[in-house]
Amino acid sequence: MNILDEFDTIAAPATPIGAGGVGVIRISGEKAFNIIEQIFSNPKFEPRKFNLGWILDNGKKIDEVIVLPFFAPNSYTGENVIEIQCHGGINVVKNILNLVLKHGARMAEKGEFTKRAFLNKRMDLSQAESVADIIHAKTSDFANVSMKNLSGVLREKINDIRNDIFEVLSKITAGIDFPEDVKEPEYDYLQESFQKIISQIDEVLKGAETSNIFRQGASVAIIGKPNVGKSSLFNALLSLDRAIVTDIAGTTRDVLRETLDLGIPVTLVDTAGIREDDEVSKVEQIGIEYSKQSLDEADLVLFVYDASQGLSEEDKEVLKLLKNKKHIVIANKADLVSERNADTLYISALTGEGIAELKTDLTTKVCGIEPETLDFVTNTRQQECLKKARASMEQAYLAARLNELQDLISIDVKSAILALDELTGELITDDILNNIFENFCIGK
Ligand code: GDP
Repeated sequence: MNILDEFDTIAAPATPIGAGGVGVIRISGEKAFNIIEQIFSNPKFEPRKFNLGWILDNGKKIDEVIVLPFFAPNSYTGENVIEIQCHGGINVVKNILNLVLKHGARMAEKGEFTKRAFLNKRMDLSQAESVADIIHAKTSDFANVSMKNLSGVLREKINDIRNDIFEVLSKITAGIDFPEDVKEPEYDYLQESFQKIISQIDEVLKGAETSNIFRQGASVAIIGKPNVGKSSLFNALLSLDRAIVTDIAGTTRDVLRETLDLGIPVTLVDTAGIREDDEVSKVEQIGIEYSKQSLDEADLVLFVYDASQGLSEEDKEVLKLLKNKKHIVIANKADLVSERNADTLYISALTGEGIAELKTDLTTKVCGIEPETLDFVTNTRQQECLKKARASMEQAYLAARLNELQDLISIDVKSAILALDELTGELITDDILNNIFENFCIGK
């Protein structure tokens, strides 16, 4: 759809299609109230009050529903919005939606409600993008941090940086435009300001890796000799998360791979399933097997040994293989030992001792920071904009060091502002916008 398309009235189910307690149909646009008046038995609406009544098709009762009216501009999209809460059956929702479409609404495209919210300035682009993140979040931490984006944390950070850049630009421009009255800013001041801005951008980019891991997940392999407790650890980590995973309909379990919510989504690979059954499970074998199967793919390796046996020569050989890999050495069966090394992570897959600590260690190692300390997330599009802004500021900084003409410096400074405007959506093309909302679902 073209960005300049008139804002006709759109409708879509806002809840997943399927059997459920409640189904919600959302209508947004000028005709929203007009449409509901034609098909609802109780159409006298007041702001912030819901109405109970029947959806009627030529007088025939279709379903008893609750209708929530939102008067423009106080709605999600900024337009007149009607939400119909009906019974959550596929065909009830379909019948009501068809009726709404028959009376003048058009089926909404993916993300069109949120796109309107953005175009009507109810939110900036970083907030609109966070809506998709919240819906698709694979872990509760990611949902939480995306919610911070929705509340505008990233937007404010970007606006602060933009304001700082703008302040310097104003000084440069004043010096250029009114050379008699305004002195051009000192080069020292420019260098200092640009450097400060670059570190502000770096600060925002710092969480980029974690943001990406939140979306893509991390692969973690458990390795170690037979009988050290790899499967038990796998299950212990799983049970931390089990309640939530098993409740999701359609989740299938694989013996070897399991995706857990450990703050970040973690695909745990239990290599116990690929171990050799014979007694000659030699280091070479372990090395070849593991390096091929899971070490290469893994973002992190959990190396387990038996604390009651200590580190064997074989263990030490395997550890050498992990030299260039992010890994955590774990002494399992801590319940069997009384003496402990201060610098070793002791756990007991049996009693659960140390499992929570391991979980924190794991997420911190994979992300570089503890995911729950993140204040906001960025996506690749936003990261690209930030990198563009940074590169321009870097250019401006170098130019300032060389005492270049301030006219020239201002070109880079302006490009940095444009890159940030692209991030917030102040300056955005149709294509980019459509691309962003393509990732949404219908009804959002
Ligand atoms: P894997 O071959 O490395 O996958 O090891 P398993 O998970 O199958 O465990 C081997 C044996 O060690 C089983 O009998 C487990 O019950 C036992 N085991 C695993 N973890 C612990 C632990 O933390 N403490 C004790 N005492 N036994 C454990």
